[in-house]
Parts: sequence; structure tokens; C-alpha cells
Amino acid sequence: MSDVQTETKKATGIKQDAIAALRTKLRGDLILPGDPQYEMARKVYNAMVDKRPAMIIRPVDVADVSSAVVFGAEQKLEVAVRGGAHNGPGFGTVEGGLVIDLSRIRGVRVDPEGKTVRVGGGAVWGDVDHATYPFHLAVPTGFVSTTGVGGLTLGGGTGYLARKYGLTIDNLLSVDMVLADGCFITADAKHNEDLFWAVRGGGGNFGIVTSFLFRGNEVNSVYGGPMFWPIDDAMDIIPYWQDFVLKAPEDLNGWFGFVTVPPAAPFPEEYQLKKMCVIVWCYTGPEEQGQEILKPIRDFRKPAMDLAGPIPLPSLQSMFDALFPAGWQWYWRSQFVKHYDDHAVELLVKHGKLLPTTWSTMHIYPINGAASRVRKQDTPWNFRDANFAQTIVAVDPDPANNEHMIQWAKDYANDLQPYSMGGGYLNMIMDEGEQGVKANYRENYTRLQQIKAKYDTNNFFHVNQNILPKP
Ligand SMILES: Cc1cc2nc3c(=O)[nH]c(=O)nc-3n(C[C@H](O)[C@H](O)[C@H](O)COP(=O)(O)OP(=O)(O)OC[C@H]3O[C@@H](n4cnc5c(N)ncnc54)[C@H](O)[C@@H]3O)c2cc1C
Repeated sequence: MSDVQTETKKATGIKQDAIAALRTKLRGDLILPGDPQYEMARKVYNAMVDKRPAMIIRPVDVADVSSAVVFGAEQKLEVAVRGGAHNGPGFGTVEGGLVIDLSRIRGVRVDPEGKTVRVGGGAVWGDVDHATYPFHLAVPTGFVSTTGVGGLTLGGGTGYLARKYGLTIDNLLSVDMVLADGCFITADAKHNEDLFWAVRGGGGNFGIVTSFLFRGNEVNSVYGGPMFWPIDDAMDIIPYWQDFVLKAPEDLNGWFGFVTVPPAAPFPEEYQLKKMCVIVWCYTGPEEQGQEILKPIRDFRKPAMDLAGPIPLPSLQSMFDALFPAGWQWYWRSQFVKHYDDHAVELLVKHGKLLPTTWSTMHIYPINGAASRVRKQDTPWNFRDANFAQTIVAVDPDPANNEHMIQWAKDYANDLQPYSMGGGYLNMIMDEGEQGVKANYRENYTRLQQIKAKYDTNNFFHVNQNILPKP
């Protein structure tokens, strides 16, 4: 027996003939501990999560996904499903179990006439933007292009187009899935409607999505990018921005943040490594109006650095990729907020001035407009009445800073808790257990439990923000 075989057997007790039989069924990769790719393949984005699965399967098609699921069930393995691997608590991996890594299923097909976009279950958003941009179409996505379509969509999806076109789930038309018994199913508004409702916010609880079909929205030109001000100006900028962005035409979005200016071009040396406040704009209205729409904020307080201007949407959506590479320490908290009063602004600024590392940050994303016109019961994503999703992110390459930066994030969130509407965006929290999950879905939780019981009775898919099945 080879070293690889011995190690696998020790870790899982999986019989070699079972592995050999599985190999004959797969066209994708089967990676075991000891294989040359294993150390890279086991890693997820957040380096705080360091797990050693017994087996990693990288399917290339639905048949592979189905074989992987059936194998996991037969062998009684704990199964983690991985899209883009960006999940904070690291639900894309599992200690001693089976990882089904969808990263080889990432094709994107645009139908320019029907204005739809078909996306493989393991694609990342950069794949989608790249494919849709030439057709002047876009799917609402997140702010970093390396994030997975799978996890972001199934958890909701907030981004630059949320005010104009809603959350990512509000643009989802259909999903192809493999369920816990290995069977294939399509869910949309006319077929398996309960399942289609559940996947629009219910996470990876119901099965593996092998293909998403999205509406493609027309986006012809974008005027956007960041404006920076000295951090002391935040006391004035936040109230102004809050009022401005909530009343602005829905073509405009702009999230507020506290950041440390990166120590590199294009930032002037005088600002490098300075803590500042920032608004990152995205205006998708008529090109000639971009300058005009942002004139009031420029008049209100001239930015210290003004990098907003005409920009291709894929460039805006990948602008921060390099600042957040895979393999760093990552901890986050999230809250939904209706309104920041003067005291809330003081608290935001107080903790913003204490950013514990160069890469830690606090962002507030507007989610009013189209996202708030969807009724609470129409998808599991319940906080349709919130105006903002606030996220506090502690990030650093060095694990030695973990304790300090995690404490900062907790203190920040705890102080702002009186302004929280309850819950926190599930895609931007760590593992807060069943309470965290329930607090997010509120009155939609019971229906989710029932649908979970129907499609995944034994909670096979439980390495996620888990919904407990209850008929
Ligand atoms: C740098 C960064 C920026 C981000 N920016 C945004 C943002 O702008 N807006 C936003 O809304 N969120 C954002 N997020 C949060 C992001 O939505 C979540 O981290 C999400 O879980 C990532 O999805 P993933 O597929 O990359 O992760 P993974 O870790 O691969 O998966 C996350 C969860 O989804 C499940 N899953 C993934 N794919 C599938 C599938 N095809 N079928 C079934 N289950 C699946 C997994 O099992 C797991 O439970 C960001 C995250 C990071 C790290």
C-alpha cells in the first residue's frame, strides 16, 4: 500500500476498493492527503480556518457532483461544498470529511437576446463580469471579483447594483441542483417553487447548485470609484452621505467605509498608511450625468483624494481584489441598520479611528431602493426594511494580530448593537450557531425548516449556516 493510500485509510477508514470504484465514475479530480495538489487544494480563503479533509473531489459536471454526493452519503462522510472558498467561517472545507469543490464548473454563457446569464456553480464573479461586459449586461454581484457566485448568491448578494436592480437573489431565475440523494432537479418560479424560494437566501442547505440562471441587466456606462476624506471629517460626511445616498436616484450607489490608505500607487505618499474615510461610488445612469450627480458631495466637502470617474464596471468590481488576497486572517461581524443618528455616528467614528491593522475596515452598504421593494416573505432574505448592511472586518496576514483585531471587531459591533435591527447578513458573519441563523431569517425560519425537511431530511448538507430540518 502506498503512503497516500495508508494516510487516507487512517483518516477515514474508506476502503481502497471504494475509492477505486469512485475514480472510475469521475471525470474530475479526486485528491487525497499526500497527493501533490492536496496542500493547496485543502486551503480556503480565510487562513484562520485550517482543516484537513479526507478527500477533495473537483467535479467537472453534474454527473460528477452526483457521484460525489452519493459517495459521501454511502461512506458516511461529513460533506462540505465549496464555491469560491470565500466564506468567513470556512464552510468550504471540513476536518476529516469530503470537500466537493466546484471550481472546475465555472462556465458562463450569455444570451444577449433573452438577456439571461447561465453560470456554473463554481464560478467566481470575475468570470461573470468578464463574460457579460461585452454585451452591456450585468448581474448584481459583490465588491470583490474573486468571491464565489455560489456562496454569495445563495446567501443573498449585496453590491453596487443593489439599489438599482436588487440583491443577487432578486435576479436569479432558475437553478439546477443535485440533492442529498444524488438526484438532479431544476427549481424556478414554475417548478419546485418551494425549493426555488428557499435557495434565494437559504444558503447551501438544500443541495448543490450546479448552474445558476440570472437575469442580465443593462449597464452601459459607469461613473464611479473612491473619494477619500480625512478621518476627522467623518462626523460630517456620514450624516451627509446617509441622507444623500438614500434619496439619490437608484442609478447611484455609494458605500461608506473607514480604511487605511494602502502604501502604494496611485495614492500620494502623504496619504499612504493614513486612516481615512471613503465613499466608493457607482453611477450607472447616463454617462454625461456622472459628474453632475456627484457634484453636491464634492461641493459639500472637497475630497482629499478623488478617484471617481468613468470606469468599466468589471474594473470597479475588481478594484479591491489585490487588497484582499486569499490566505490572510479574516474575522467579521455584520448588522442591519435603518438609520444612524448623531450618537451612532460618534460610535462609528470612534471605532473607525481605531482600525487595528492596515487591512481591517468597516463598510456600510446601502440596500434600499430595488432591494427593499421585494417583500420580506418573497425570499428568505428578511431584512428588506433595512437601509444599510454594515460590516466590520478584521483582516491581517499575521495571525499574531488575531486576538487584538477580533476584539476590535467585537467591541465595534457591540457598541453599535443598539442600532442593529437584529441579525446580521449571514454571508458576512462567522459561525454564530443556530441563534445567528434564526436571527437572520426571523419569521421565514419556520418555512425554511420545513423545506429543509422535505429536500434534505437528514441534514446531509450541514456544513453551512445551518437550517435545522423540521417538518
Ligand atoms: C473579500 C470578500 C469580499 C466579499 N464581498 C461581498 C460583497 O460585496 N457582497 C456580498 O454579498 N458578499 C460578499 N462577501 C461575502 C461572501 O458572499 C461570502 O463569503 C460567501 O459565503 C462566499 O461564497 P463562496 O462561494 O466564495 O464561498 P464558499 O466558502 O465556497 O461557500 C460559502 C457557502 O456557500 C455554499 N456554496 C457555495 N457554492 C455553492 C453551490 N454552488 N451550491 C451549494 N452551496 C454552495 C458552501 O457550501 C458554503 O456553505 C465577500 C467575501 C469576501 C471574503
